[in-house]
Amino acid sequence: HTFSLTHRYESTSTASAASAAPPVEKYEYQAEVSRLMDLIVNSLYSNKEVFLRELISNASDALDKLRFMSVTDPELLKDAVDFDIRIQTDKDNGIIKITDTGIGMTRQELVDCLGTIAQSGTAKFLKALKDSKDAGGDNNLIGQFGVGFYSAFLVADRVVVSTRSPKSDKQYVWEGEANASSYTIREETDPEKLLPRGTCLTLYLKRDDKGFAHPERIQRLVKNYSQFVSFPIYTWQEKG
Ligand code: ADP
Ligand code: MG
Repeated sequence: HTFSLTHRYESTSTASAASAAPPVEKYEYQAEVSRLMDLIVNSLYSNKEVFLRELISNASDALDKLRFMSVTDPELLKDAVDFDIRIQTDKDNGIIKITDTGIGMTRQELVDCLGTIAQSGTAKFLKALKDSKDAGGDNNLIGQFGVGFYSAFLVADRVVVSTRSPKSDKQYVWEGEANASSYTIREETDPEKLLPRGTCLTLYLKRDDKGFAHPERIQRLVKNYSQFVSFPIYTWQEKG
């Protein structure tokens, strides 16, 4: 990775307290990411459902990566769990959870991947946007290039990513909000949220986008996208 890291570590005020909870660390997004987030959050882009395509493709990439790396490093599969993607919806609360059993991310990878523009598609998007006359952002560009992970903010105002790399014995939680210039990372301490490996993304949908948490809608979208994915995708609805 040669991109510049502009995040800044801020020791939290609670750090001095004799609390057992690990500290929550705050990081600033790289300037390009802030710009991208602004565009995504404020865009009038109507084809918001592309968020699911992007997040399923990330889950699938993470599973592919694990499968590939485990050929030379079988230890990575020491926690015998299936390779799959699960999408859970809670329509009453407007929440979508996407869980994969892929390669996950270490703490450093969270910072490198979800705070900077690492991916070529997004870099191309920003370049195209710069070249386009429309300063407000040509809305078609979002779908054309795909804005990757950040497309979650097309529909969600809060995104929580809890992830565990099989190379790490710790699980970390990345948390970001639409309209914020910073995100946080902390260690996962809730035993109920610990994963054998992989990543769980929780999307707290915007008020007007809660309809995406309807199971029929998700199932329809998954059907469209899953034909390009070589891992099983399970969908179900959370009760009450
Ligand atoms: P791209 O997929 O084009 O690289 P994204 O913005 O979609 O760009 O994702 C950025 C990076 O974040 C990915 O390259 C990957 O390293 C990491 N990432 C995103 N989602 C996951 C996931 N579910 N599991 C592991 N890593 C992920
Ligand atoms: Mg992607």
